[in-house]
Amino acid sequence: MTLHVALLHGEMIDKTGDEVTTSLTLIDVHDIARSSRTFGAESFYVVHPVAAIRSLARRLIGHWTEGFGATYNANRKDAVERVNVVVTLDDVVLDLQDKTKRTPILIATSAKEEGARVSYSFMASEMVENPEEPYVLLLGTGWGMSPTLVARTDYFLEPIRGVGDYNHLSVRSACAIMLDRLQSAITVPLFDEGKVEERF
Ligand code: SAM
Repeated sequence: MTLHVALLHGEMIDKTGDEVTTSLTLIDVHDIARSSRTFGAESFYVVHPVAAIRSLARRLIGHWTEGFGATYNANRKDAVERVNVVVTLDDVVLDLQDKTKRTPILIATSAKEEGARVSYSFMASEMVENPEEPYVLLLGTGWGMSPTLVARTDYFLEPIRGVGDYNHLSVRSACAIMLDRLQSAITVPLFDEGKVEERF
């Protein structure tokens, strides 16, 4: 099974519901890279349609992979060197098609409740049953993904719910929880050895 993560900035909505391009939050880049590496995602795509923002992302990545950061914190280098910076979601799809010879399966996410959703355990079992397929966990920004973007995805994961009405996680916090939930759902206990087997 292969899981990839993509942080999207185009085709988002703003607080009025208009479709917009959002800005990049730099801490998302290395925090999501670290979560992705920790939970075994094969790659992390930062997707942004604005060239200057992509340059900024690449400069940050360069700091941690080639600059002072590479020797200062080798663990972060290990995570950040798996980050790809691309223009659109189509680039993510084309890159994975090129690398895997399969059409990637897209998984939308949102804090909102509406729409037909799948559970984490369902999603994890799909991944385990189709180990040759590349799955891409899509993360939104701003007020989340536009309906047209969600409409082109294959699955829409259920929201992470809090304990009350307030549900405003940062995308990097939400990503870590999602990856942990998927990982937990596919971890099979090996009772005879008292160990667990990790499937991605
Ligand atoms: N109201 C927006 C929504 O529901 O998509 C919030 C956007 S949030 C700042 C940015 C991204 O973080 C979301 O697009 C989603 O990928 C992720 N996210 C944040 N909170 C989440 C939650 N409780 N459940 C699932 N995904 C969440």
